[in-house]
Amino acid sequence: SKTLRLVLGDQLNSNHSWFKTIDDSVTYVMMEIRTETDYATHHIQKIVGFFSAMQEFAAEIQSQQHRVIYIRLNDGNNLQSFEKNIKSLIEKEQFTHFEYQFPDEYRLDEQLKNLCQSLSITSSVCDSEHFMSSRNELGDFFEGKKTFLMESFYHMMRKKHHILMEGDKPLTGKWNYDGENRKKLPKDHKPTPPLVFQNDVTKIVSEIQKTDIKSIGNIDAENFVWPINRKQSLELLDFFATECLALFGSYQDAMTPNEWSLYHARLSFSMNVKLISPLEVIQRAILEWENRPEAIAYHQLEGFVRQIIGWREYMRGIYWNKMPEYATMNYFNNENSLPEWFWTGKTKMNCLKDAINQSLNYAYAHHIQRLMVTGNFALLAGIHPDEVDAWYLGIYIDAIEWVEITNTRGMSQFADGGIVGTKPYVSSAAYIDKMSHYCGSCFYKKAVKTGDKACPFNSLYWNFYDKNEDKLGKNPRIGMMYNVWRKMKPDDKAALLEQAAFYLKNINNL
Ligand code: FAD
Ligand code: SF4
Repeated sequence: SKTLRLVLGDQLNSNHSWFKTIDDSVTYVMMEIRTETDYATHHIQKIVGFFSAMQEFAAEIQSQQHRVIYIRLNDGNNLQSFEKNIKSLIEKEQFTHFEYQFPDEYRLDEQLKNLCQSLSITSSVCDSEHFMSSRNELGDFFEGKKTFLMESFYHMMRKKHHILMEGDKPLTGKWNYDGENRKKLPKDHKPTPPLVFQNDVTKIVSEIQKTDIKSIGNIDAENFVWPINRKQSLELLDFFATECLALFGSYQDAMTPNEWSLYHARLSFSMNVKLISPLEVIQRAILEWENRPEAIAYHQLEGFVRQIIGWREYMRGIYWNKMPEYATMNYFNNENSLPEWFWTGKTKMNCLKDAINQSLNYAYAHHIQRLMVTGNFALLAGIHPDEVDAWYLGIYIDAIEWVEITNTRGMSQFADGGIVGTKPYVSSAAYIDKMSHYCGSCFYKKAVKTGDKACPFNSLYWNFYDKNEDKLGKNPRIGMMYNVWRKMKPDDKAALLEQAAFYLKNINNL
C-alpha cells in the first residue's frame, strides 16, 4: 500500500505522531497554490511567512528521511488547487490511501471532505494534535446556554489541564488578575527592543513577483523579521519569557507611537501555523515565573496564560460551534465601506495612522490596536463586517479565519449580536488617550466633540449609540451611556450627530 498525506500550510507540527516513524510507504505532500494565495488579498509578509515556514518544514522532515513532495508556486506541474494536485499525484504515483489532519478553517474542512468523497481510493482524517480543547468541546461545555462566557470556559481549561491550580482551586485563590494589568506606558519608559530575525526571503518574494498574486503591505526581503521555523519560534518564546513576560500584563493594553511590539509575545504566527504548541508556550512562561518569582509578578503570568488557554481556545470553539452562519452575521446591518486610507495609512488621525502604517510594515498590530483603534473606528463608522473581515484576514501575518473572524466579526464588530462579547468595544478619544501617547501630537483635538479639529471618535461614538438604540438601549452593561445621551441637551445632540454625518460623508479625507 502507498499512502499520501497532506500537510497544510498551518500544520507545521513536527511533533505530530505522523512523524514519529519513518515509513517508505508514506509520502507527504505540501503545496503553494493559488487558491490559498487568492482567497483574500494578503499582506506580502503573510504569504512569504507561510511559504518560508512551509519550505523550512519540508526540508526538516525530509532531512529526517521522510518522503516529501513539495510543489512550489511556479512549478510547471502545479495545478494550483488541493483537489487537482492531489488527484494528479494519486494517479501518477498510484497511491492507495489518502490522509489529512483536521483543518482549522471551515472552507478547507468542506473542501477536503468533498475531495475525499470524490476519490477512488480510501481516505482518513486525524487530529492536528495542537490545541488543548477539541473542536466541539466549547459547544458541549455551553450546551443549552444562551451566553458563552469566556471566563467560565477558562476556568474549565485551567482545571482540566491542571494549570496554575492548587487541587481544584486556582493558585493564590483568585482566577483572574485583569484588574492589576492594563497600565499606560510611563512617558519616559523605553520598551525592550523586540527580537527580530533577519531571514533572507528574496527567492520567495521574486517567485511571488513572477505571478499576478495581489498583495498589500511592505517587506524587507533580506531581513524578514518573523520566525520561519521551530528553532526561531523557540528563540522568540525564550526572548518573551526572559525579556517581556515581567511587564506583559502591565502594558498589555498600552500604545505608544513607533513602538510596534512593546511586551507582546508576537508568537501568534508561530502558534497558528503550529511550529510551537500552546502548551509548550505556557509551560515555558510558567517555568520562567517559577525560576524568577521576584522578577515576574503572578498577575503578569496569569494574564498571559489566559490569552492562550482562555481566549485562543475559546475563539476556536466559538468558530466550530457557529460556522458557517457566523460569517454572514451583521447585527447592526452595517453597510459602509472602509476608507481608502486603511490601505495606505494616509490619515490625519494619529492613532489610526500609527496602527495602519505599522500593520503595513510588519503585518502585525497588537490586540488593543486591532480592537480599540482600527476595530473601534470601523464599528463606529458602520463598516460592513465583510469588509472589516477581509481587511483583518489580509493584513495580519497571524490571520487564519478561525481566529480572525471570531475576533473581528465577534469581539470587535459585535456583528454576532453578543456571542463573544457582552457589549460592543467602542470608545471615544478618552479611552485612546488614557492608554496611549497619540493624542498629544494629533491633528485632531481629543477633547473637542464638534467643529473644527474635533476628534472623529467623539461624535462617531455618540452617533453609534444613537443609531443603535433599538439594539443596545436595553443592554444593562451600557445603560449608563444611554442615560448620559438621553439627558444631553437637544442642541448638543444635534450638533454631535451633524458632526458625525459630516465625518462619515468625508470619511476618505479624515
Ligand atoms: P500577545 O498579546 O503576546 O498574546 C499572547 C497570545 O495570546 C497570542 O499569541 C495569541 O495566541 C493569544 N491571544 C491573545 N488574545 C487573543 C484573542 N483575542 N484571540 C485569540 N488568541 C489570542 N489573533 C490571531 O492569532 N489571528 C488573527 O487573525 C487575529 N485577528 C484579530 C482581529 C481583531 C479585530 C482583534 C481585536 C484581535 C485579533 N486577534 C487575532 C487576537 C490578538 O490580537 C492576537 O492574537 C495578538 O495580537 C497576537 O499577537 P501576540 O502574539 O504578540 O499576542
Ligand atoms: Fe486618535 Fe482622536 Fe487621539 Fe487623534 S485625537 S490620536 S484621532 S483619539
